Amino acid sequence: MELPSALISSLTNVKGFNKEAFEKVHQSGEQNTSIRINIHKLPDALKADLTGIAFEDVAISPVPWSSNGYYLSARPSFTSDPLFHGGAYYVQEASSMFLEEALKQSVDLTQPLKVLDLCAAPGGKSTLIQSLLSATSLLVSNEVIKSRVMILAENITKWGSSNVIVTNNDPADFKRLPGFFDIIVVDAPCSGSGLFRKDPKATEEWSGQNVEQCCVRQQKILADILPSLKEGGVLIYSTCSYSTEEDEAIADMVMKEHPLSTIRLSLKEEWNIVETTAADSNAFGYRFYPDQLKGEGFYIAAFKKNIAGDIIPQNNKKKIRTEVLTPKEISVIKTWLKNPDDFFFINQQEEVIAMPAHLENDLTDIRSALYIKKAGVKMGTIIRNELIPAHELALSSIIHHRIPSVKVDKATALQYLRRGEIKIDSHNKGWAMLTHHHLALGWIKILPNRINNYYPKEWRILNK
Ligand code: SAM
Repeated sequence: MELPSALISSLTNVKGFNKEAFEKVHQSGEQNTSIRINIHKLPDALKADLTGIAFEDVAISPVPWSSNGYYLSARPSFTSDPLFHGGAYYVQEASSMFLEEALKQSVDLTQPLKVLDLCAAPGGKSTLIQSLLSATSLLVSNEVIKSRVMILAENITKWGSSNVIVTNNDPADFKRLPGFFDIIVVDAPCSGSGLFRKDPKATEEWSGQNVEQCCVRQQKILADILPSLKEGGVLIYSTCSYSTEEDEAIADMVMKEHPLSTIRLSLKEEWNIVETTAADSNAFGYRFYPDQLKGEGFYIAAFKKNIAGDIIPQNNKKKIRTEVLTPKEISVIKTWLKNPDDFFFINQQEEVIAMPAHLENDLTDIRSALYIKKAGVKMGTIIRNELIPAHELALSSIIHHRIPSVKVDKATALQYLRRGEIKIDSHNKGWAMLTHHHLALGWIKILPNRINNYYPKEWRILNK
Protein backbone atom coordinates (compact mmCIF):
# COMPACT_ATOMS: atom_id res chain seq x y z
CA MET A 1 0.00 0.00 0.00
CA GLU A 2 1.36 3.39 -1.02
CA LEU A 3 0.54 5.91 1.71
CA PRO A 4 0.13 9.51 0.46
CA SER A 5 3.45 11.25 1.12
CA ALA A 6 1.65 14.55 1.81
CA LEU A 7 -0.29 12.84 4.60
CA ILE A 8 2.86 11.34 6.13
CA SER A 9 4.71 14.65 6.09
CA SER A 10 1.68 16.48 7.56
CA LEU A 11 1.74 14.09 10.52
CA THR A 12 5.45 14.41 11.33
CA ASN A 13 5.00 16.53 14.45
CA VAL A 14 1.64 15.18 15.55
CA LYS A 15 1.69 13.65 19.01
CA GLY A 16 1.91 9.88 18.98
CA PHE A 17 2.79 9.61 15.27
CA ASN A 18 5.64 7.19 14.62
CA LYS A 19 6.44 7.15 10.90
CA GLU A 20 8.26 3.80 10.73
CA ALA A 21 5.74 1.89 12.86
CA PHE A 22 2.81 3.56 11.07
CA GLU A 23 4.13 2.63 7.61
CA LYS A 24 4.97 -0.89 8.74
CA VAL A 25 1.50 -1.60 10.12
CA HIS A 26 -0.01 -0.36 6.85
CA GLN A 27 2.25 -2.67 4.83
CA SER A 28 1.62 -5.69 7.07
CA GLY A 29 -1.74 -6.52 5.48
CA GLU A 30 -3.03 -7.30 8.98
CA GLN A 31 -6.80 -6.91 9.38
CA ASN A 32 -8.78 -6.75 12.61
CA THR A 33 -12.34 -7.97 12.85
CA SER A 34 -14.47 -7.03 15.82
CA ILE A 35 -18.09 -7.31 16.85
CA ARG A 36 -20.21 -5.81 19.60
CA ILE A 37 -22.85 -7.96 21.22
CA ASN A 38 -26.46 -6.86 21.59
CA ILE A 39 -26.99 -7.28 25.33
CA HIS A 40 -30.74 -6.68 25.04
CA LYS A 41 -31.19 -9.62 22.72
CA LEU A 42 -28.60 -12.23 23.38
CA PRO A 43 -29.40 -14.68 26.19
CA ASP A 44 -26.53 -14.96 28.70
CA ALA A 45 -25.92 -18.58 27.81
CA LEU A 46 -25.37 -17.61 24.21
CA LYS A 47 -23.02 -14.75 25.11
CA ALA A 48 -20.67 -17.20 26.77
CA ASP A 49 -20.89 -19.62 23.90
CA LEU A 50 -20.96 -17.36 20.89
CA THR A 51 -17.70 -18.79 19.64
CA GLY A 52 -19.04 -22.31 19.64
CA ILE A 53 -22.34 -21.41 18.05
CA ALA A 54 -21.78 -18.64 15.55
CA PHE A 55 -18.07 -18.64 14.93
CA GLU A 56 -16.63 -22.10 14.68
CA ASP A 57 -12.84 -22.17 14.79
CA VAL A 58 -12.66 -18.47 15.60
CA ALA A 59 -11.21 -17.32 18.93
CA ILE A 60 -12.68 -14.26 20.59
CA SER A 61 -10.97 -11.80 22.92
CA PRO A 62 -12.34 -8.62 24.54
CA VAL A 63 -11.82 -5.13 23.14
CA PRO A 64 -10.16 -3.50 26.18
CA TRP A 65 -12.22 -0.26 26.22
CA SER A 66 -15.58 -1.85 25.52
CA SER A 67 -18.00 -3.87 27.70
CA ASN A 68 -19.47 -5.89 24.87
CA GLY A 69 -16.92 -5.67 22.09
CA TYR A 70 -14.82 -8.64 20.99
CA TYR A 71 -12.06 -9.23 18.47
CA LEU A 72 -12.42 -12.29 16.28
CA SER A 73 -9.24 -14.14 15.34
CA ALA A 74 -10.53 -14.54 11.75
CA ARG A 75 -13.33 -12.99 9.71
CA PRO A 76 -16.20 -15.44 9.45
CA SER A 77 -18.91 -15.15 6.82
CA PHE A 78 -21.39 -12.98 8.71
CA THR A 79 -23.91 -13.35 5.88
CA SER A 80 -24.12 -17.06 6.59
CA ASP A 81 -24.72 -16.57 10.30
CA PRO A 82 -28.45 -16.33 11.16
CA LEU A 83 -27.58 -14.63 14.47
CA PHE A 84 -26.11 -11.71 12.52
CA HIS A 85 -29.42 -11.25 10.68
CA GLY A 86 -31.32 -11.50 13.96
CA GLY A 87 -29.36 -8.56 15.43
CA ALA A 88 -27.39 -10.56 18.01
CA TYR A 89 -24.31 -8.46 17.32
CA TYR A 90 -23.02 -5.62 15.15
CA VAL A 91 -19.76 -5.81 13.24
CA GLN A 92 -17.94 -2.67 14.38
CA GLU A 93 -14.41 -1.39 14.15
CA ALA A 94 -12.80 -1.62 17.62
CA SER A 95 -11.47 1.96 18.00
CA SER A 96 -15.00 3.36 17.45
CA MET A 97 -16.20 1.41 20.44
CA PHE A 98 -14.32 3.91 22.63
CA LEU A 99 -17.39 6.12 22.27
CA GLU A 100 -18.70 4.05 25.21
CA GLU A 101 -15.95 5.38 27.49
CA ALA A 102 -16.39 8.93 26.20
CA LEU A 103 -20.09 8.80 27.05
CA LYS A 104 -19.72 7.02 30.39
CA GLN A 105 -17.11 9.50 31.54
CA SER A 106 -19.04 12.59 30.41
CA VAL A 107 -22.67 11.91 31.31
CA ASP A 108 -24.78 10.09 33.90
CA LEU A 109 -26.26 7.47 31.59
CA THR A 110 -28.76 6.24 34.19
CA GLN A 111 -30.79 9.44 33.67
CA PRO A 112 -33.51 9.84 31.04
CA LEU A 113 -31.59 11.50 28.21
CA LYS A 114 -32.35 12.80 24.75
CA VAL A 115 -29.49 11.85 22.48
CA LEU A 116 -28.83 12.73 18.86
CA ASP A 117 -26.50 10.70 16.66
CA LEU A 118 -26.27 13.19 13.81
CA CYS A 119 -24.24 11.32 11.18
CA ALA A 120 -25.55 7.87 11.92
CA ALA A 121 -25.57 5.58 8.86
CA PRO A 122 -24.99 2.66 8.77
CA GLY A 123 -25.66 2.61 12.52
CA GLY A 124 -22.53 1.43 14.35
CA LYS A 125 -22.44 4.30 16.85
CA SER A 126 -26.25 4.40 17.15
CA THR A 127 -26.53 0.75 18.15
CA LEU A 128 -23.71 1.29 20.66
CA ILE A 129 -25.36 4.42 22.11
CA GLN A 130 -28.72 2.63 22.34
CA SER A 131 -27.14 -0.18 24.39
CA LEU A 132 -25.75 2.34 26.86
CA LEU A 133 -28.90 4.39 27.42
CA SER A 134 -31.54 3.83 30.07
CA ALA A 135 -34.93 2.55 28.92
CA THR A 136 -36.40 6.00 29.64
CA SER A 137 -34.05 7.70 27.18
CA LEU A 138 -34.58 8.61 23.54
CA LEU A 139 -32.11 8.21 20.70
CA VAL A 140 -32.62 10.17 17.49
CA SER A 141 -30.52 8.53 14.85
CA ASN A 142 -30.14 10.84 11.84
CA GLU A 143 -28.66 10.46 8.39
CA VAL A 144 -28.74 13.26 5.84
CA ILE A 145 -28.12 11.13 2.74
CA LYS A 146 -31.40 9.58 1.67
CA SER A 147 -29.90 6.45 0.11
CA ARG A 148 -28.10 5.65 3.37
CA VAL A 149 -31.14 5.97 5.63
CA MET A 150 -32.48 2.58 4.51
CA ILE A 151 -29.49 0.66 5.86
CA LEU A 152 -29.58 2.73 9.04
CA ALA A 153 -33.28 1.91 9.58
CA GLU A 154 -32.59 -1.77 8.85
CA ASN A 155 -29.77 -1.96 11.39
CA ILE A 156 -31.84 -0.13 14.01
CA THR A 157 -34.73 -2.52 13.36
CA LYS A 158 -32.44 -5.53 13.80
CA TRP A 159 -31.11 -4.05 17.04
CA GLY A 160 -34.71 -4.35 18.25
CA SER A 161 -35.17 -1.35 20.54
CA SER A 162 -38.30 0.78 20.76
CA ASN A 163 -36.76 4.05 22.00
CA VAL A 164 -35.11 5.07 18.71
CA ILE A 165 -36.39 7.49 16.06
CA VAL A 166 -34.62 7.45 12.70
CA THR A 167 -34.66 10.77 10.84
CA ASN A 168 -33.44 11.96 7.44
CA ASN A 169 -32.47 15.60 7.85
CA ASP A 170 -29.78 18.11 7.15
CA PRO A 171 -27.95 19.27 10.32
CA ALA A 172 -29.39 22.79 9.78
CA ASP A 173 -32.94 21.41 10.23
CA PHE A 174 -32.15 20.69 13.88
CA LYS A 175 -32.16 24.44 14.58
CA ARG A 176 -35.91 23.95 14.86
CA LEU A 177 -35.24 22.05 18.10
CA PRO A 178 -33.24 24.55 20.18
CA GLY A 179 -31.72 23.25 23.41
CA PHE A 180 -33.46 19.88 22.89
CA PHE A 181 -30.70 17.30 23.27
CA ASP A 182 -28.64 16.28 26.33
CA ILE A 183 -26.03 14.62 24.14
CA ILE A 184 -25.08 15.13 20.50
CA VAL A 185 -22.69 12.74 18.78
CA VAL A 186 -21.13 14.01 15.55
CA ASP A 187 -19.22 11.18 13.89
CA ALA A 188 -18.31 13.47 11.06
CA PRO A 189 -17.86 12.70 7.36
CA CYS A 190 -14.09 12.94 6.90
CA SER A 191 -11.18 12.24 4.56
CA GLY A 192 -11.00 8.68 5.94
CA SER A 193 -7.24 8.13 6.31
CA GLY A 194 -7.88 6.12 9.47
CA LEU A 195 -9.48 3.37 7.41
CA PHE A 196 -6.73 2.92 4.80
CA ARG A 197 -5.98 -0.59 6.06
CA LYS A 198 -9.59 -1.65 5.51
CA ASP A 199 -9.83 0.07 2.14
CA PRO A 200 -6.36 0.44 0.57
CA LYS A 201 -7.85 1.94 -2.62
CA ALA A 202 -8.91 4.98 -0.57
CA THR A 203 -5.23 6.03 -0.49
CA GLU A 204 -5.56 6.96 -4.17
CA GLU A 205 -8.47 9.30 -3.47
CA TRP A 206 -6.84 11.04 -0.50
CA SER A 207 -5.74 14.64 -1.08
CA GLY A 208 -4.87 17.65 1.04
CA GLN A 209 -7.59 19.52 -0.80
CA ASN A 210 -10.18 16.98 0.31
CA VAL A 211 -8.98 17.34 3.90
CA GLU A 212 -9.59 21.10 3.60
CA GLN A 213 -13.07 20.53 2.18
CA CYS A 214 -13.91 18.07 4.95
CA CYS A 215 -12.72 20.56 7.54
CA VAL A 216 -15.03 23.26 6.15
CA ARG A 217 -17.95 20.79 6.11
CA GLN A 218 -17.24 19.69 9.68
CA GLN A 219 -17.26 23.30 10.89
CA LYS A 220 -20.59 23.93 9.20
CA ILE A 221 -22.13 20.74 10.62
CA LEU A 222 -21.09 21.75 14.14
CA ALA A 223 -22.28 25.34 13.77
CA ASP A 224 -25.64 24.06 12.50
CA ILE A 225 -26.16 21.48 15.22
CA LEU A 226 -24.88 23.14 18.38
CA PRO A 227 -27.98 25.32 18.99
CA SER A 228 -29.95 22.12 19.59
CA LEU A 229 -27.64 21.08 22.46
CA LYS A 230 -28.98 21.84 25.93
CA GLU A 231 -27.11 23.97 28.44
CA GLY A 232 -24.89 21.51 30.35
CA GLY A 233 -25.24 19.06 27.46
CA VAL A 234 -22.37 17.06 25.98
CA LEU A 235 -21.00 17.07 22.44
CA ILE A 236 -18.94 14.13 21.26
CA TYR A 237 -17.02 14.76 18.04
CA SER A 238 -15.16 12.02 16.19
CA THR A 239 -13.54 11.26 12.84
CA CYS A 240 -11.61 8.43 11.25
CA SER A 241 -8.99 10.86 9.93
CA TYR A 242 -5.45 11.46 11.18
CA SER A 243 -5.33 15.01 9.83
CA THR A 244 -5.15 17.66 12.54
CA GLU A 245 -7.26 19.96 10.33
CA GLU A 246 -10.20 17.60 10.91
CA ASP A 247 -9.38 16.79 14.54
CA GLU A 248 -7.55 19.16 16.90
CA ALA A 249 -8.20 22.21 14.66
CA ILE A 250 -11.93 21.46 14.81
CA ALA A 251 -11.68 21.14 18.60
CA ASP A 252 -10.05 24.59 18.62
CA MET A 253 -12.86 25.97 16.48
CA VAL A 254 -15.52 24.46 18.78
CA MET A 255 -13.92 26.11 21.81
CA LYS A 256 -13.35 29.46 20.09
CA GLU A 257 -16.65 29.93 18.33
CA HIS A 258 -19.11 28.15 20.59
CA PRO A 259 -19.80 28.22 24.33
CA LEU A 260 -18.25 24.82 25.05
CA SER A 261 -15.47 23.60 27.31
CA THR A 262 -13.24 20.57 26.95
CA ILE A 263 -13.80 17.31 28.84
CA ARG A 264 -10.74 15.31 29.78
CA LEU A 265 -11.19 11.54 29.75
CA SER A 266 -9.16 9.16 31.84
CA LEU A 267 -7.28 6.46 29.99
CA LYS A 268 -5.73 3.20 31.08
CA GLU A 269 -2.07 3.12 30.15
CA GLU A 270 -2.36 -0.32 28.55
CA TRP A 271 -4.93 0.97 26.04
CA ASN A 272 -2.16 2.92 24.25
CA ILE A 273 -4.57 5.66 23.23
CA VAL A 274 -2.77 8.99 22.73
CA GLU A 275 -4.14 12.08 24.47
CA THR A 276 -3.58 15.30 22.52
CA THR A 277 -4.30 18.94 23.22
CA ALA A 278 -5.42 21.35 20.54
CA ALA A 279 -2.90 24.09 19.73
CA ASP A 280 -4.89 27.20 20.72
CA SER A 281 -7.51 26.05 23.20
CA ASN A 282 -5.77 23.04 24.78
CA ALA A 283 -8.94 21.04 24.14
CA PHE A 284 -8.33 17.36 24.88
CA GLY A 285 -8.65 14.80 22.14
CA TYR A 286 -7.88 11.08 21.83
CA ARG A 287 -6.01 9.51 18.94
CA PHE A 288 -5.97 5.88 17.94
CA TYR A 289 -3.00 4.69 15.87
CA PRO A 290 -3.11 1.13 14.46
CA ASP A 291 0.57 0.57 15.15
CA GLN A 292 -0.05 1.14 18.87
CA LEU A 293 -3.34 -0.64 19.53
CA LYS A 294 -5.67 -3.17 17.95
CA GLY A 295 -7.95 -0.85 16.00
CA GLU A 296 -8.02 1.57 13.08
CA GLY A 297 -7.26 5.30 13.00
CA PHE A 298 -9.75 7.33 15.03
CA TYR A 299 -10.02 10.68 16.84
CA ILE A 300 -12.57 11.55 19.50
CA ALA A 301 -13.12 14.56 21.74
CA ALA A 302 -15.82 15.46 24.29
CA PHE A 303 -17.12 18.92 25.20
CA LYS A 304 -19.65 20.39 27.59
CA LYS A 305 -21.96 23.25 26.65
CA ASN A 306 -21.70 26.05 29.20
CA ILE A 307 -24.57 28.34 28.30
CA ALA A 308 -27.64 27.88 26.23
CA GLY A 309 -26.73 30.44 23.57
CA ASP A 310 -29.47 32.03 21.51
CA ILE A 311 -32.76 30.28 21.89
CA ILE A 312 -34.72 30.50 18.69
CA PRO A 313 -38.47 30.37 19.29
CA GLN A 314 -39.93 27.04 18.29
CA ASN A 315 -42.49 26.54 15.56
CA ASN A 316 -45.99 25.74 16.60
CA LYS A 317 -46.12 22.03 17.12
CA LYS A 318 -48.10 20.08 14.60
CA LYS A 319 -50.39 17.61 16.24
CA ILE A 320 -49.69 14.07 15.13
CA ARG A 321 -52.37 13.21 12.62
CA THR A 322 -53.39 9.67 13.36
CA GLU A 323 -56.40 7.55 12.85
CA VAL A 324 -57.90 6.51 16.13
CA LEU A 325 -57.69 2.89 17.16
CA THR A 326 -60.82 1.37 18.60
CA PRO A 327 -60.69 -0.08 22.16
CA LYS A 328 -61.03 -3.53 20.60
CA GLU A 329 -58.06 -2.91 18.28
CA ILE A 330 -55.97 -1.67 21.19
CA SER A 331 -56.81 -4.75 23.20
CA VAL A 332 -55.80 -6.95 20.23
CA ILE A 333 -52.47 -5.14 19.88
CA LYS A 334 -51.70 -5.37 23.57
CA THR A 335 -51.84 -9.16 23.53
CA TRP A 336 -48.66 -9.15 21.42
CA LEU A 337 -46.58 -7.15 23.90
CA LYS A 338 -44.60 -8.01 27.03
CA ASN A 339 -45.46 -4.78 28.89
CA PRO A 340 -48.37 -3.33 26.88
CA ASP A 341 -49.12 -0.51 29.32
CA ASP A 342 -45.67 0.99 28.76
CA PHE A 343 -46.59 1.97 25.18
CA PHE A 344 -48.80 4.29 23.22
CA PHE A 345 -49.97 3.39 19.74
CA ILE A 346 -50.20 5.36 16.55
CA ASN A 347 -52.19 4.17 13.59
CA GLN A 348 -50.64 5.70 10.53
CA GLN A 349 -51.40 4.83 6.96
CA GLU A 350 -52.96 1.58 8.14
CA GLU A 351 -49.92 0.61 10.19
CA VAL A 352 -49.77 0.52 13.95
CA ILE A 353 -46.62 1.79 15.63
CA ALA A 354 -45.74 1.25 19.31
CA MET A 355 -43.68 3.89 21.10
CA PRO A 356 -42.71 4.00 24.78
CA ALA A 357 -45.44 6.02 26.55
CA HIS A 358 -43.01 8.47 28.12
CA LEU A 359 -41.76 9.54 24.66
CA GLU A 360 -45.11 10.82 23.39
CA ASN A 361 -44.24 14.52 23.82
CA ASP A 362 -40.78 14.07 22.35
CA LEU A 363 -42.23 12.37 19.31
CA THR A 364 -44.63 15.29 18.83
CA ASP A 365 -41.72 17.76 19.01
CA ILE A 366 -39.61 15.77 16.59
CA ARG A 367 -42.48 15.29 14.18
CA SER A 368 -43.05 19.00 14.04
CA ALA A 369 -39.40 19.66 13.15
CA LEU A 370 -37.95 16.71 11.23
CA TYR A 371 -38.64 14.06 8.62
CA ILE A 372 -39.11 10.77 10.42
CA LYS A 373 -38.16 7.61 8.59
CA LYS A 374 -38.95 5.23 11.42
CA ALA A 375 -40.10 5.56 15.03
CA GLY A 376 -40.47 2.96 17.75
CA VAL A 377 -41.60 -0.48 16.61
CA LYS A 378 -43.91 -1.08 13.67
CA MET A 379 -46.40 -3.64 14.95
CA GLY A 380 -48.35 -4.37 11.79
CA THR A 381 -51.72 -3.83 10.17
CA ILE A 382 -55.09 -4.46 11.76
CA ILE A 383 -57.59 -6.20 9.55
CA ARG A 384 -60.97 -7.15 11.00
CA ASN A 385 -59.62 -6.91 14.55
CA GLU A 386 -56.63 -9.12 13.79
CA LEU A 387 -53.03 -7.99 13.71
CA ILE A 388 -51.02 -8.93 10.65
CA PRO A 389 -47.64 -8.64 12.37
CA ALA A 390 -44.82 -6.56 10.88
CA HIS A 391 -41.27 -7.85 10.60
CA GLU A 392 -40.07 -5.19 13.05
CA LEU A 393 -42.25 -6.66 15.78
CA ALA A 394 -40.57 -10.08 15.51
CA LEU A 395 -37.12 -8.49 15.78
CA SER A 396 -38.04 -6.22 18.66
CA SER A 397 -37.40 -6.84 22.31
CA ILE A 398 -40.94 -5.69 23.24
CA ILE A 399 -42.78 -8.72 21.88
CA HIS A 400 -44.51 -11.09 24.31
CA HIS A 401 -42.56 -14.27 24.98
CA ARG A 402 -45.73 -16.32 24.64
CA ILE A 403 -46.16 -15.50 20.95
CA PRO A 404 -45.82 -18.87 19.16
CA SER A 405 -42.37 -19.62 17.85
CA VAL A 406 -40.70 -22.43 15.96
CA LYS A 407 -37.06 -23.32 16.58
CA VAL A 408 -35.04 -24.25 13.55
CA ASP A 409 -31.50 -25.39 12.80
CA LYS A 410 -28.95 -23.29 10.94
CA ALA A 411 -29.68 -24.74 7.50
CA THR A 412 -33.42 -24.04 7.81
CA ALA A 413 -32.73 -20.59 9.24
CA LEU A 414 -30.57 -19.74 6.22
CA GLN A 415 -33.17 -21.09 3.85
CA TYR A 416 -35.71 -18.84 5.57
CA LEU A 417 -33.37 -15.84 5.30
CA ARG A 418 -33.05 -16.51 1.55
CA ARG A 419 -36.84 -16.39 1.48
CA GLY A 420 -36.87 -19.95 0.25
CA GLU A 421 -39.43 -22.64 0.84
CA ILE A 422 -39.15 -24.21 4.28
CA LYS A 423 -40.55 -27.38 5.79
CA ILE A 424 -41.29 -27.59 9.49
CA ASP A 425 -43.16 -30.05 11.68
CA SER A 426 -45.32 -27.98 13.97
CA HIS A 427 -48.63 -28.43 15.72
CA ASN A 428 -49.15 -24.66 15.76
CA LYS A 429 -51.27 -22.99 13.13
CA GLY A 430 -51.18 -19.36 12.04
CA TRP A 431 -48.51 -16.77 12.76
CA ALA A 432 -45.28 -17.90 14.41
CA MET A 433 -41.80 -16.51 14.82
CA LEU A 434 -38.98 -18.48 13.35
CA THR A 435 -36.16 -18.67 15.90
CA HIS A 436 -32.60 -19.89 15.84
CA HIS A 437 -30.80 -20.23 19.20
CA HIS A 438 -33.67 -18.31 20.89
CA LEU A 439 -33.28 -15.38 18.52
CA ALA A 440 -36.25 -14.39 16.36
CA LEU A 441 -35.52 -14.02 12.66
CA GLY A 442 -38.97 -13.11 11.38
CA TRP A 443 -42.49 -14.40 10.73
CA ILE A 444 -43.88 -17.49 9.11
CA LYS A 445 -47.51 -18.45 8.70
CA ILE A 446 -48.27 -22.09 9.24
CA LEU A 447 -51.06 -23.27 6.98
CA PRO A 448 -52.50 -26.80 6.85
CA ASN A 449 -50.49 -27.76 3.77
CA ARG A 450 -47.58 -25.32 3.67
CA ILE A 451 -45.52 -22.68 5.42
CA ASN A 452 -45.56 -19.11 4.15
CA ASN A 453 -42.25 -17.28 4.48
CA TYR A 454 -42.67 -13.60 5.42
CA TYR A 455 -39.01 -12.61 5.52
CA PRO A 456 -38.78 -9.14 3.89
CA LYS A 457 -37.87 -9.47 0.24
CA GLU A 458 -35.49 -6.52 0.30
CA TRP A 459 -33.48 -8.05 3.18
CA ARG A 460 -33.16 -11.57 1.86
CA ILE A 461 -29.74 -13.23 1.48
CA LEU A 462 -28.96 -13.37 -2.21
CA ASN A 463 -26.04 -15.79 -2.32
CA LYS A 464 -26.61 -19.53 -2.25
N1 SAM B 1 -21.66 7.00 12.65
C1 SAM B 1 -21.68 6.02 11.59
C2 SAM B 1 -21.44 4.65 12.18
O1 SAM B 1 -20.83 4.56 13.24
O2 SAM B 1 -21.90 3.67 11.59
C3 SAM B 1 -20.69 6.36 10.51
C4 SAM B 1 -20.87 7.75 9.99
S1 SAM B 1 -19.81 8.22 8.67
C5 SAM B 1 -18.30 8.45 9.45
C6 SAM B 1 -20.36 9.85 8.37
C7 SAM B 1 -21.79 9.99 7.92
O3 SAM B 1 -22.06 11.39 7.70
C8 SAM B 1 -22.13 9.29 6.64
O4 SAM B 1 -23.23 8.44 6.84
C9 SAM B 1 -22.48 10.41 5.67
O5 SAM B 1 -23.51 10.07 4.80
C10 SAM B 1 -22.92 11.54 6.60
N2 SAM B 1 -22.75 12.89 6.01
C11 SAM B 1 -22.19 13.22 4.83
N3 SAM B 1 -22.26 14.55 4.65
C12 SAM B 1 -22.90 15.06 5.71
C13 SAM B 1 -23.29 16.38 6.10
N4 SAM B 1 -23.03 17.43 5.33
N5 SAM B 1 -23.95 16.53 7.25
C14 SAM B 1 -24.21 15.47 8.04
N6 SAM B 1 -23.84 14.21 7.74
C15 SAM B 1 -23.20 14.01 6.60
